[in-house]
Amino acid sequence: MNKKIYLDHAATTPTKKVVVEAMLPYFTEKFGNPSSIYEFSGQNKEAIEEARELVAHAIGANEREIFFTSGGTESDNWAILGIAENYKSKGNHIITTTIEHHAVLHTCEYLEKNGYEVTYLEVDKDGRVNPNDLKEAIKETTILISIMLANNEIGTVQPIEELGAIAKAAGVLFHTDAVQAVGHIPIDVNAMHIDLLSISGHKLYGPKGIGALYVRKGIKLRSFIHGGGQEKKRRGGTENVPAIVGFGKAIELAITSMEAESKRQAELRDYLIEQVLERIPHCRLNGHREYRLPNNANFSFEFIEGESLLIMLDMKDICASSGSACTSGSLDPSHVLLGIGLPHEIAHGSLRISLGEQNTKEEMDYLIESLIVIVARLREMSPLYEDYLKKQAKIER
Ligand code: PLP
Repeated sequence: MNKKIYLDHAATTPTKKVVVEAMLPYFTEKFGNPSSIYEFSGQNKEAIEEARELVAHAIGANEREIFFTSGGTESDNWAILGIAENYKSKGNHIITTTIEHHAVLHTCEYLEKNGYEVTYLEVDKDGRVNPNDLKEAIKETTILISIMLANNEIGTVQPIEELGAIAKAAGVLFHTDAVQAVGHIPIDVNAMHIDLLSISGHKLYGPKGIGALYVRKGIKLRSFIHGGGQEKKRRGGTENVPAIVGFGKAIELAITSMEAESKRQAELRDYLIEQVLERIPHCRLNGHREYRLPNNANFSFEFIEGESLLIMLDMKDICASSGSACTSGSLDPSHVLLGIGLPHEIAHGSLRISLGEQNTKEEMDYLIESLIVIVARLREMSPLYEDYLKKQAKIER
């Protein structure tokens, strides 16, 4: 193949051309500050409100419940810190899981250092939370439950409706990080009993640095950024109008094509999973086989390092991701893979493939053939594999 094969859409997606085109006038001729009084700026205010409606529509919310943020990380921070502060008089206990994104986990750790108590629910071997564990963890002092809708590494989708119903019955607010789910699987905040929900623009073919937090009507949430009266005085700062417009356009397109595109990607994913598991020995699929994002496949290959695998895939023009905590520059296996019970040595040999709208069956075939060759090459160089082969030979003798 003589082009790059991008298979890392869970990390980020390309901004669609039509999205960029929708944004462009807001950098140049429509540059006005939406807070200004004159008509020239009024059109920017309208553009923001149109985008707000599109975001609300995507998750079954009302536009008054949508607040624009700088992305998923800010939305997660705002939801958790805001509720923790506003509902402090009711209690100081928060429930989350061991496999959340760091935007949630590190925020919870920060709160723990500041007098809050956090319960980290364990997940099963496929990455799912047991609803009974959630029921048992709720106490008098519980003010917030934060459980992601779909996991960014292994793609497992949680039983969100059931978990939301438990939170509702207990009178506890329910936040979900839906950054990887929006535009891939249907979401309805009312049917799923969700009180707060985080979204990010750049995971659904929109621009980077823009996202939203859904906050159910009636919930008290403190201002996250103090300043002007923007976003109903809850998030000060002149709005990033081009990014908001692009985000609105991207989410509209994602929702329109979701059904057909998810089906197409799930077929590619299933083909990839089937071929890899069948043709590469000592390999496992991570995450739930059925309850998983249509675009995610995560494998562990025994006796090899995920980092070496990524480098060799890169040499074949394939962009993918491993299960290491690469953002921190560390090579520790990811907390998600350890969270589903993988031993360190197996978690180390992991690979995340996340598909997108441009990927084709031909690319899957190229990936599969490349993986077969690369995994075999890396194993030839692996002392662990050599030991394994020797042991096998002894057993067979
Ligand atoms: N939450 C999840 C599940 C994610 O996958 C990501 C990004 O990787 C984030 C939050 C952070 O989103 P952003 O990059 O918009 O800050």
